[in-house]
Amino acid sequence: MYTLGVDIGSTTAKAVILENGERIVASSIIIATVGTSGVQNAVTEVLDKSGLRMEDMTAVVATGYGRQTYEQADYQISELSCHAIGAHFVFPDVHTVIDIGGQDAKVLSLNERGQLANFAMNDKCAAGTGRFLDVMASILNLKISDLEKEAAKATEPAQISSTCTVFAESEVISQLANGVKIPDVVAGICSSVASRVASLVRRVGVQEKVCMTGGVAQNGGVRLALEKELGVPILYDDKAQLMGALGASLYAFNKENKKNNT
Ligand code: ADP
Repeated sequence: MYTLGVDIGSTTAKAVILENGERIVASSIIIATVGTSGVQNAVTEVLDKSGLRMEDMTAVVATGYGRQTYEQADYQISELSCHAIGAHFVFPDVHTVIDIGGQDAKVLSLNERGQLANFAMNDKCAAGTGRFLDVMASILNLKISDLEKEAAKATEPAQISSTCTVFAESEVISQLANGVKIPDVVAGICSSVASRVASLVRRVGVQEKVCMTGGVAQNGGVRLALEKELGVPILYDDKAQLMGALGASLYAFNKENKKNNT
């Protein structure tokens, strides 16, 4: 049985096809915001990569901020549930999931069975989200994927004291004007995100094991800064950005499997 999960986020559309709820056949990530053709492109790409057709999919589940916009879905499920399902699949003994996406950050607390027990969310402010990093990378003329490498070269990480993205932007510009080196500024930016997210984590409690999901998880500078803030190791898998789509695909499989067994 093949199932398709699509995660329509604020910044990217992701798609994952699973075979029998076990094996990832193909995945795709398209940079596009909600309300654009991003989701369609992600689905076209994942089908092309898999050599399968939409008719081969037993069930389709949409998740993410824009899930209501995808009419081909059989079910629409919240991204909180999907990240929990995806993270539990990849890391069976994880109890805390830190999901930092393009415009929000969420912390999920999972019970022993991997079910969502509690959560905290910041969707009101860009600080502590991918948006903050995107803005800072553009000021520094760096690619988002280069932040990790730059942060690793820091010798004296800068302090970014502004909690607002707009003020932090001015602060970074003035630090650069005062000769602070780019790697030190980048390390300060990563720490600023980590410190905002750490306070969200403390709201639900730090229960090991802890993992990161969402696009920002790919930034090792933020992961390292969060490990320091929280004092625990953070598990990471290179499917981090796909975790919601993976969870959606797994949800689809479980739902169909249950139907077939009753
Ligand atoms: P959403 O689901 O809200 O659309 P994602 O989970 O896809 O968001 O995360 C998008 C964010 O991930 C971007 O805003 C960017 O900051 C970050 N990101 C994307 N690719 C990379 C990368 N290669 N390295 C570091 N960060 C990345």
